[in-house]
Amino acid sequence: MHRGLQAEIQRIVLLTLFLLIFGFMNGYLLLTLLVGGGLYMLWTFSHISKLYDWLDRGCSGLPPEAGGVWGDMGDSLYRMQKRNERAKQSRRSLSDRVRNITGALADGILTLSADRVLEWWNPAAEQLLGLKKSDRGQSIINLVRDPRFVAFIQNQTLNSPLELTSPEDPTKTLLFTAAEFGDGDVILVAQDITRLRNLEQMRQDFVANISHELRTPLTVLSGYTETLQDSLQNGDNDLPSHWKKALDQMQQQTDRMNALANDLVMLSQLESTREPAPSEPIQIAPLLQQISEDARIIAADNYKVELECAEAMVLNGDMKELYSAFSNLVFNAIKHNPAGTTVQIKSYATDSANFIEVSDDGNGIDPKHISRLTERFYRVDQSRASSTGGTGLGLAIVKHVLMHHGGTLSITTTLSKGSCFSCRFPILKP
Ligand code: ADP
Repeated sequence: MHRGLQAEIQRIVLLTLFLLIFGFMNGYLLLTLLVGGGLYMLWTFSHISKLYDWLDRGCSGLPPEAGGVWGDMGDSLYRMQKRNERAKQSRRSLSDRVRNITGALADGILTLSADRVLEWWNPAAEQLLGLKKSDRGQSIINLVRDPRFVAFIQNQTLNSPLELTSPEDPTKTLLFTAAEFGDGDVILVAQDITRLRNLEQMRQDFVANISHELRTPLTVLSGYTETLQDSLQNGDNDLPSHWKKALDQMQQQTDRMNALANDLVMLSQLESTREPAPSEPIQIAPLLQQISEDARIIAADNYKVELECAEAMVLNGDMKELYSAFSNLVFNAIKHNPAGTTVQIKSYATDSANFIEVSDDGNGIDPKHISRLTERFYRVDQSRASSTGGTGLGLAIVKHVLMHHGGTLSITTTLSKGSCFSCRFPILKP
């Protein structure tokens, strides 16, 4: 039993005994008991009232002095109040610390309720998005009205980040990421990636410019090499005949550099355009027909090129880009496989997508390379690259063209059995 309660019971027992003895001695037992009990109740009420006063004062200062159960209760309340104060203090200092940390961050951080109402934000968010105090409690889609942002923040999964021009400063590019926490609340992070984008742009411009600039000297070199080769063929006696091999190799390497410069120009053009490809309707059957004829010329009689087309297939996009993507796949199937390989070009449609597939029954590719095949300059066999004349950019171009047309590339391959490169273009329902 609690010590205070024990003392109180002892006090009541002693008081009752005293009153009984005193009552017997003076002959007024009942009256003595009544008066004693009344005094005890008055004493108790005075303690209760002091305790109430202390509680009303917000427990400030020490609890009222009392013994027994009332003293104990006052002490317990006092300890509880001190514990609360300490907890409140540590919560306050934690929230101050969090506020200081988020205040020091360069990234904008905002918290939204489950229905996307703005609850809190840090100073960086204020600057990046131009928020004002009065915006608290407003829906975020009233403040950032870009339809892409609206779609992004209303998407239940919130899993893909969004890049957008700052609504406050059009020279800035922001990257938005969001995640759910608690009861469907959302934390939104706005990162200023302007510097990154500028650097990326500089890199793209540099590659595009240098590849473009390389074309002119390469054309001159190629022109002179061809002239010298012709002279040698026509029996020009001023040229030693052992130059033939050197000239052939010079021509081969100039062609290779030309192909590399062309691929780099194409890739940087694809990278720099963020808009979807121009949507002219492209008839796929004649395009694939053209590619298979070009492939037959390259393959001579060494390879079999088969074509199976869905006659009426039309894709919206850019003719030059699509030619480049499909021809890269077809020429790869010839370039990277031995003579005797059959290359199959096929187009077909399902309810949800159009497919263009290029498959071969050649060498196949070790599955460990598949995830890296579309990287720039990635080659399965580095040593064979120069003999095949590849630039290592073909599949990177294919991937970018497909992305530009809302499509995807999937690769299935088995070593020694062959590979299939399948381009999928979803059919968008109106
Ligand atoms: P490259 O200019 O070397 O052809 P790509 O990006 O087009 O560069 O291809 C990357 C690599 O993928 C090639 O080096 C080759 O090893 C492999 N590859 C591509 N297509 C095929 C194919 N049909 N069969 C076998 N290997 C292939």
